[in-house]
Amino acid sequence: MTASLYIHIPFCVSHCDYCDFYSELVPSRGRGASDLIDRFTHLLCTELDIVLDRYALDMVPTLYIGGGTPSVLGRNGLAKVLDHLASGMNRWPDEVTVEANPESVDESLLMMFKDRGVHRLSLGIQSLQEAPRRAVNRSGTVVQCFAALELAERLFPEAFSVDLMAGLPFQTQAGLCKDIDHILAAGATHVSLYSLILEETTPLARNVRSGKIPLPPEEEAEEIWLAGRAALTMKGLFPYEVSNFAQPGYESRHNMRYWRMENWIGCGPGASSTIITETTGTGIRYTNRPNLEAYLSWSGDGFPPRDEEVLDRDTLLKESLMMGFRTIYGPDEQLFEGRFHQSIESLIPETLRIWKHQGFLQDRRLALNPEGLLLLNSFLVDCFQELESRGH
Ligand code: SF4
Repeated sequence: MTASLYIHIPFCVSHCDYCDFYSELVPSRGRGASDLIDRFTHLLCTELDIVLDRYALDMVPTLYIGGGTPSVLGRNGLAKVLDHLASGMNRWPDEVTVEANPESVDESLLMMFKDRGVHRLSLGIQSLQEAPRRAVNRSGTVVQCFAALELAERLFPEAFSVDLMAGLPFQTQAGLCKDIDHILAAGATHVSLYSLILEETTPLARNVRSGKIPLPPEEEAEEIWLAGRAALTMKGLFPYEVSNFAQPGYESRHNMRYWRMENWIGCGPGASSTIITETTGTGIRYTNRPNLEAYLSWSGDGFPPRDEEVLDRDTLLKESLMMGFRTIYGPDEQLFEGRFHQSIESLIPETLRIWKHQGFLQDRRLALNPEGLLLLNSFLVDCFQELESRGH
């Protein structure tokens, strides 16, 4: 079996008010923090041994360490995880990405990444403006962001990615475009530009409801995102996925594997794994409980506490379309037909005919064009309605 590997580091130094990902606060220093990180790192290495052995993986094509905030593990903690993986695999992955937040980046951390074979650095900048950052309680300062960009430019000149957000409080189109100018001038070859989603249970949603924090109205937020998209494409980064932009050749291979619905294994609290049986088009998804305490109490035998979901053929078929059409390359047709023994054209002929006629599909491949990607949700609604009308 071939599978990519994702490692979830469930720690943050503070919680951003918009975030509903699973992560636990960890003090930035002190005995308590280092004991916790040591114990976590030890169990993570145990879990890595177990999955590599259980799935007979002597190599993985791509590795992504995300979170949370992986850089909270510090230079030693991350070096330990990377060294452990290197000793357990016959071949180092073709692409290794580690996420880091600007305030925890320094020269020694990035030098260690380079020494250990990390190819891509992904910086969680989100905004280079103080007011939007403060309004959502984003940790770190603008000065730290610029310092991290400078280090990335120097130490990861060929492949670093930046996460940005659109629709933040007090953000303007001009402000986002200025941020984009700065990060591209620093040499970022990949940018993820996400729209802020107001999740009901987050502190930001409460602050917006109580009138403490104003959010740009929906249309204005969309205009800000579109202005960012235009700025990125004008500067040569092409939108290869709904929210992801890259210089040609610098797409995230790891994420491309997700969007093609290839197997992946996730380790760490909250991480999920999806394993597909190619011949039947069915699969299984395991999700480690998003609970640090449960993970830390795990004995190291078997797997950490996790839930299991069986993916039947129709579920997987829909997921494959949903993920595949997110990208400018569309679903992998060969992989799709091999799995489901049916072509995409035979499953949703009407939807494809209508969207092609309207000019939102590409001529040479089964994929949305850049204008079509902006209407992805409507396209998927049509796909699923047609699938359901055909009994799927
Ligand atoms: S740093 Fe990332 S994971 Fe942590 S709270 Fe902020 S957005 Fe969420």
